[in-house]
Amino acid sequence: MMKYWSEVAKRCTPYVPGEQLNDSTIIKLNTNENPYPPSPNVQSAIKKEMEQALHLYPSPTVDSLREAIAKQEGTTKESVFVGNGSDEVLAFAFMGLFSPYRTIRFPAITYSFYPVYANLFQIPYEKVPLMSDFTLDETAFFHSEGGAILPNPNAPTSIFTSLDLMENIVKHNPDNVVIIDEAYVDFAPETAVALTHKYEQLLIVKTFSKSRSLAGLRVGYAIGHPHLIEALTRIKDSFNSYTIDRLAIVGAKAAIEDTAYFKQTTRHILQTREWTREQLEERGFSVLPSATNFLFVHHPIYEAEKLYQQLKEKKVLIRYFRNQGITDYMRITIGTDEMMRKFLLVLDQVM
Ligand code: PMP
Repeated sequence: MMKYWSEVAKRCTPYVPGEQLNDSTIIKLNTNENPYPPSPNVQSAIKKEMEQALHLYPSPTVDSLREAIAKQEGTTKESVFVGNGSDEVLAFAFMGLFSPYRTIRFPAITYSFYPVYANLFQIPYEKVPLMSDFTLDETAFFHSEGGAILPNPNAPTSIFTSLDLMENIVKHNPDNVVIIDEAYVDFAPETAVALTHKYEQLLIVKTFSKSRSLAGLRVGYAIGHPHLIEALTRIKDSFNSYTIDRLAIVGAKAAIEDTAYFKQTTRHILQTREWTREQLEERGFSVLPSATNFLFVHHPIYEAEKLYQQLKEKKVLIRYFRNQGITDYMRITIGTDEMMRKFLLVLDQVM
């Protein structure tokens, strides 16, 4: 008889995160982190908390951070759930809001953690093909048996789908949860958060890892109707009441309250993105219209994997894609102006 633990092992198809090389001389453009440090207020808040309160358990209800998020997002604390990175929030959502008996849908080209969670929690899924230009066919998500999950903007394509189309998907799934993963939305035209006031089956997931420069602190959150938030909270409390530690709570709160710093760094990344896009187009790359802090690009002559290897030898790290129906694309995170200038210099040496 098959041992149960080997059954579990078969169900797990672990997500492999991008390379994290411990070499500060590397120009790291492979995992869509923010090149700028977090708001200076984060450091002082964490230092104070370390000195005063690290011997105490954190708040299991995380009220202070949820209130700060609610204020920024124009909603109530009861509509906000906080987790240890949006990956954990997504895991709780798959576990609690999707069913092992009903098939969910997500785009065929998308964040590769979705099939990992679906396999782990034994949720059947259908991958919905994108159009040939990588845009979404929203009608293919209508009347899904068990709900849907879509990132907006999508990753790794960087393409933003208008809120009208997203609302149409939600509208046509009245009895199923639709999750919109907005990890990159702060680099895009608009968030769908306002729709959560209108549709009780809609959950928006966001992260502090990108626009708030806190990938290392691991904080993500969800916004939705209080009954969805209650479900996520019950799951969390059945698992580990303290998923967010004290430093993460005060650090994330300081970050979300520093609107001026957030606007300044985000605006700069958008400027650098547009400059980099022009530079790549001048070199013959086709660049998909990006609403994120990365570019998804293809060259008619140079193979993405080869460029990736050659760039890596010269200490520039990017990602290449040749799976999930993607023929030959590179994904390049937007760094500082200086990082992007160096990247282009090295690119010119290998092309
Ligand atoms: N969703 C998408 C689409 C992502 O690209 C990422 C980052 N890799 C995440 C969620 C997870 O981000 P985090 O766990 O750092 O919040």
